[in-house]
Amino acid sequence: MHDPDCLFCKIARGQIPSRKVHEDDEFFAFHDIRPAAPIHFLIIPKRHVASMAQVTDEHAPMLGRMLTLAPRLALQEGCNPYPDGGFRLVVNTGTEGGQEVHHLHLHVLGGPRPWARG
Ligand code: AMP
Ligand code: ZN
Repeated sequence: MHDPDCLFCKIARGQIPSRKVHEDDEFFAFHDIRPAAPIHFLIIPKRHVASMAQVTDEHAPMLGRMLTLAPRLALQEGCNPYPDGGFRLVVNTGTEGGQEVHHLHLHVLGGPRPWARG
């Protein structure tokens, strides 16, 4: 269910402080500590999954709910409406995919350009 050594499991359980954006039974969302855009937060499942490389058919409903949560939270956090506004969703996977924290997380980035990194 959770990995006691995992940073994001600890954040989801409130054992490490974070700037919370949203919480429900299944997901926790919080601001990225090193934002790459004016709005940058992460959505994580509370249940530990290391990365997109581990997902199976059993994760499909959770992944669908995580993706559909993103636009709602993006607007809540101040992203401008589509199409002139919008947001970027990113899931880094594995070392070559740029993943640093091995608990599945969806980056949500938005806000007026320019952004810090890309
Ligand atoms: P990734 O490279 O996709 O694994 O992204 C990990 C993200 O987690 C990076 O953007 C980090 O800035 C962010 N991060 C690392 N530690 C924390 C923390 N304690 N609170 C919030 N964000 C964090
Ligand atoms: Zn974890």
